[in-house]
Amino acid sequence: MTKADYDVLVIGGGPGGSCAAAYARKNNYRTLVVEKCAFPRFRIGESMLPTSNAILRDIGVWPKIEGAGFIPKYGAMFYLANSPEEKEIDFRNSLVPGLESTFQVERAKFDAILLNHALELGADIRTPATVKSVETDGTVNHVEIETADGCERVTARWVLDASGRDNFFVTDQKRALDPPRLERKMAVYSHFRHVARPSGRRAGHTIVVRLEDGWFWIIPIDEERTSVGLVTTIEAMRRAKVEPEELFRQAVESSSRLRELMAGSEATMSFHVTSDYTYFRRELARERLLLVGDAAGFFDPIFSSGVYMSLWSAQRAVNLVVRADAKDRGLSERERRDYTRGIKRHAEVFCRLIEMFYDNRSFAVFMCEQVPWNLAPGLTSIVAGHAKLTWPLWWRFKIFLLVCRLQRRFRTVPPLDYAARPKPRPVV
Ligand SMILES: Cc1cc2nc3c(=O)[nH]c(=O)nc-3n(C[C@H](O)[C@H](O)[C@H](O)COP(=O)(O)OP(=O)(O)OC[C@H]3O[C@@H](n4cnc5c(N)ncnc54)[C@H](O)[C@@H]3O)c2cc1C
Repeated sequence: MTKADYDVLVIGGGPGGSCAAAYARKNNYRTLVVEKCAFPRFRIGESMLPTSNAILRDIGVWPKIEGAGFIPKYGAMFYLANSPEEKEIDFRNSLVPGLESTFQVERAKFDAILLNHALELGADIRTPATVKSVETDGTVNHVEIETADGCERVTARWVLDASGRDNFFVTDQKRALDPPRLERKMAVYSHFRHVARPSGRRAGHTIVVRLEDGWFWIIPIDEERTSVGLVTTIEAMRRAKVEPEELFRQAVESSSRLRELMAGSEATMSFHVTSDYTYFRRELARERLLLVGDAAGFFDPIFSSGVYMSLWSAQRAVNLVVRADAKDRGLSERERRDYTRGIKRHAEVFCRLIEMFYDNRSFAVFMCEQVPWNLAPGLTSIVAGHAKLTWPLWWRFKIFLLVCRLQRRFRTVPPLDYAARPKPRPVV
């Protein structure tokens, strides 16, 4: 095998990078993780999917996650801003066993646990350090790393780029994107104290409040703090002609449901804005480099698929590296194509859900109290992250999407009233 400083160099110590490093170490690879930020660092994306649990168990970090005091998550509640309709997704009703619960996490803490785990498994971690360039000669990658002490060059047989949405090095491959499928969106968010929480089993649910042209997430991240964010279109933001924080406040005021939940709440940090985050890169692998997690693509936060996709793609990427190494070569054209297709096929399931959510008529089908033909348990499994569509899930999903399509032309279920006004405030 070609000589290099490392077998695997991972760019980025987020969930995708740490998970890739953990799998690499499980295969005894000499592994280096290069992370730009000193940890712990803030990250948005606090709601996990139950399908992540199995991967976290597989890399051996699950006991640390269970012991970290994160809030158990058993499902999600979907509400309309000003109408009484509500829908609960309870993971214990899933068709697929083993998806009953997961956690809501503060990402600074969660990501640090994962990165530390990779370190304990024997990965070298360089942080704060930034990868500035990657050049390959076909058998080895030459990587330039910048730290406070200056620049360093290392070689690695494989590079796994898990650098998130940041475009750390722009190559033709990383520039080429799939044609956009979803409208350009933005999110305005912060952490709050004193946000109302349901009691009992629902206390850890993600709450989604659907507005006419956007939605709010409400995610409890510890006993005190709750992550709250508004997602809307960039176009709606432009039309509003106010600062993002003001738009957030106006949107809360426009909804009786949100006013109730947010009454007396106070932000514990300044507001963050993330915009135009939806993209997928055209190709996700080269001969000795694979894109993992958000570096490959990200659609939308609504079904909390981001972290799961990062962990799942990390697992696949390392499997592929191991298989190619067994033949002592880089990735064949076919392997690169299969990797790209495999990730996109998985992401496509979430994309279908996302498209359904943003279509006002289709969303009425999702919100139906009794989804007919026993589709609900299948749908619950997919919302829990089971994007591998086995036959019982596949046919249920297909029929659900078909009913959604029908709803766009005919009225198969009663439509929802998105434009309802908030209840007037009581006069004191
Ligand atoms: C508004 C919003 C809400 C979201 N909500 C959810 C949610 O509820 N649940 C969910 O699962 N997902 C959510 N996501 C998505 C989630 O944030 C991401 O999918 C997830 O963080 C991706 O993990 P990653 O490891 O691929 O990338 P990241 O977590 O972004 O980690 C990448 C790391 O790479 C480092 N890096 C970047 N460039 C370099 C470089 N050149 N050299 C060295 N290091 C570098 C960065 O510092 C970073 O630490 C949300 C996203 C958005 C935009």
